[in-house]
Amino acid sequence: MKIQWSASPNFSSRKGRTPIAVVDHITAGLMPGTLSWMKNPQAQASAHYLVTKAGEIFQLVKDEDAAWHAGAVANPDWSLYDGTNPNRYTLGIEHECISGGELTEAQYQATLWLHRQLIAKWGIPIDQEHIIGHYRIDSVNRPNDPGPDFPWQRLFVDLKGESEDMAIPVGAKETIVEIGGKAYPAYILTNTTYFQGGVPVRELVNALTKQITWDEVNFKVIIK
Ligand SMILES: [Zn+2]
Repeated sequence: MKIQWSASPNFSSRKGRTPIAVVDHITAGLMPGTLSWMKNPQAQASAHYLVTKAGEIFQLVKDEDAAWHAGAVANPDWSLYDGTNPNRYTLGIEHECISGGELTEAQYQATLWLHRQLIAKWGIPIDQEHIIGHYRIDSVNRPNDPGPDFPWQRLFVDLKGESEDMAIPVGAKETIVEIGGKAYPAYILTNTTYFQGGVPVRELVNALTKQITWDEVNFKVIIK
């Protein structure tokens, strides 16, 4: 994929900050008007990137500068908001669409690729505090930005890739559960063993009236 540079004057300095999060938006208009609007000084608004329905990616503001995409804060629900202008520590991605609409497949693939680039470049963690919708910053005026049809679940699964299946909660310790000589990945959290995916092993086994033992030496669960 390639990024087409299309400069907007609507930005300011990050004042020493670096991007720690990606803010996803949806436009209230379609191409080419939505691109020219974000480049119009009258708009007083922009984003770092605009991903079109055709799957094109335009960059309007350098990552190193603060695009004007999420500066207004109203009743935020975002743990990383620190009271200063969010534009200084976020990257903004606009998606060509009208709120309530869905992304096209080409658009989804383009924004997935772009998210991956930004995550790698800026070391952004893949979680719901570091990849957010605009509504998390302004829940009053932007409740539908990017709207209920934005593919959050698919995006997180794709961004995490393989690791999604193997994900274990913070603080958990990996183990295996041996059933009939075969090992299944599991984890232990607060003295309870879960199969990956969150099924409690003992609860399951009790339900099946089988015997379950803990092998301390080999750090594994055995079901007979
Ligand atoms: Zn927005």
